[in-house]
Amino acid sequence: MKKTLLYAALVSLVGCASNATKTEKNITTNNAQFDAFKNRFVSALWKANPQWATSQGFHDYDSVLIIPNAASRVDDLAFNNNYLDSLKQFDVNQLDQNNATDFALIQNQLKQSVWSITEYKAHEWNPSNYNIGGSVAEILNNKNASLTIKVANVNGLLRNISNYYSAAKQNITTPTLEHTDLAIQQLQGTVSYLETSVNDSINAIKGSATVLKNALEATNNFIDYLQGKKAEMQKNNIAFKDFRIGKELFVKKFEYEIQAQATAEQIYNRALKRKEELNVEMATLAEHWWKNKNANQPLPANKKEMVRQAIATISKTHVTRQNFQTEIEREIPLLTAFVKQINLLYMDPAKPLVVRKEPEWMAGVAGASISAPGPYDKNGNTYYNVGSLAAYSPEEAESYLREYNQYTLQILNIHEAIPGHYAQLIYANQSPSIIKAILGNGAMIEGWAVYTERMMMEEGWAKNTEINGTVQEDEMWLMYYKWHLRVVCNTILDYNTHVNNWTKDQALNLLMNEAYQEKAEAEGKWRRATLTQVQLCSYFTGYSEIYDLRQTLKTKQQATFNLKAFHEKLLSFGSAPIKFIAPIMSK
Ligand code: ZN
Ligand code: ZN
Repeated sequence: MKKTLLYAALVSLVGCASNATKTEKNITTNNAQFDAFKNRFVSALWKANPQWATSQGFHDYDSVLIIPNAASRVDDLAFNNNYLDSLKQFDVNQLDQNNATDFALIQNQLKQSVWSITEYKAHEWNPSNYNIGGSVAEILNNKNASLTIKVANVNGLLRNISNYYSAAKQNITTPTLEHTDLAIQQLQGTVSYLETSVNDSINAIKGSATVLKNALEATNNFIDYLQGKKAEMQKNNIAFKDFRIGKELFVKKFEYEIQAQATAEQIYNRALKRKEELNVEMATLAEHWWKNKNANQPLPANKKEMVRQAIATISKTHVTRQNFQTEIEREIPLLTAFVKQINLLYMDPAKPLVVRKEPEWMAGVAGASISAPGPYDKNGNTYYNVGSLAAYSPEEAESYLREYNQYTLQILNIHEAIPGHYAQLIYANQSPSIIKAILGNGAMIEGWAVYTERMMMEEGWAKNTEINGTVQEDEMWLMYYKWHLRVVCNTILDYNTHVNNWTKDQALNLLMNEAYQEKAEAEGKWRRATLTQVQLCSYFTGYSEIYDLRQTLKTKQQATFNLKAFHEKLLSFGSAPIKFIAPIMSK
């Protein structure tokens, strides 16, 4: 309810910019006060959440480890409630556009934190919350500090680690089996990281080895504890907590995390509808392709079987594993040129994208990702990390390369790089608000990347590119739809798993029989659905709301609608939720 009011306030404030000058001084003061408030809030937020600060590139509290016990949760609640109170001193109607959205983001964050502690309670059931490996890596990877300082901070962080794990043991009253297994696996990774890279760093400056030795012992002890607890529960037939969080928590988490105009249920129903549309489109395309390119093979009577076989055949066109990174490097300039030629978005040539082999500390999962500079390092490089396929067996490599074949590899590059994540993050970094950088909305970020896939296809990307010397439009579209169907099914899977109690069999049936996924991919996705909630909905939700906004504006502006202007305006808000951007842009 409060959200709706705020939303209405945001809409009205844009309209009253030309009001009498009498209120102007008032507005200025209020905005100046709110700017000062934001600075105090961010400083206090980092002090209260040192590991979060470290992950954002703010290193003042690197050496501080908060013991996650009941007392610290009381402190945390007080922090959030106090700041919720402080927000009441501001009239959101008096704030400018940027501050009004920041107000809403801060309020949402504070309410979500309270809800996490009092309702969601992951500290009781998710043992993988207790792991300092990532923080240690963030400290040691800081380019702006000397090794001596970094090692001192690591030592500070590790000093009280046994108290940290003791509190964790107290907290974990009702673990899920899935998060227990995840915790054991990840903590083993942390142990090996501490034994090798961290040990080397500490030795390099003759730092305190005792701290590390104790930290290793405490971590191994915690792993033993989790393994023991798991064995004991299994032996005595004590039920683990169900990893499914149920409708009430799911709906609430969706509200806080996705911050969409639509509810979780509305998005779920939309995804079901989109899946049916895609099935029709894909059958039409597959049949057209078959008659033109595969006429010597008998056409299956069953439409799904026809689509499956068409996808299997087309997927055989792929690069070799040695050429995987080279192919990505070749495609990036082609995408940039297309975006420029069709006039889709201005891209700052001074901020190039660096394609690199995935650094070792990220390694483990092959694939591709973007590392964007954080809010405290805006001029840092943006990297496109390409996972190595070197460790794969020939069969594994073949399966991976068929998944990321010549066609889907292009969609991947659009999504991760141009004009997807890379372009969006460059624009987001120009946004004046640190709040939007720290509390960036995942649905906006993923939604934009998914939106650009469709937008590039609609603007003629498939006609523009040649594969093996020919334009292959049907193939490109069919593979795009397969990729898009994955996004749609992420939402269906996430919602059904947590709200409708889906089993693994139901999940695999959806992914393999209705979305044409390989078994390994489907199993991986099921695992992700058991370990996360709501995040898998972010892609389709953000995409839908951006696409809708564009349709609304096209209808309204008719011939004056300009795609480039739409994209640039949309991105100028930074990573704010579409529900705040849409009313302002539709004004
Ligand atoms: Zn092959
Ligand atoms: Zn993405």
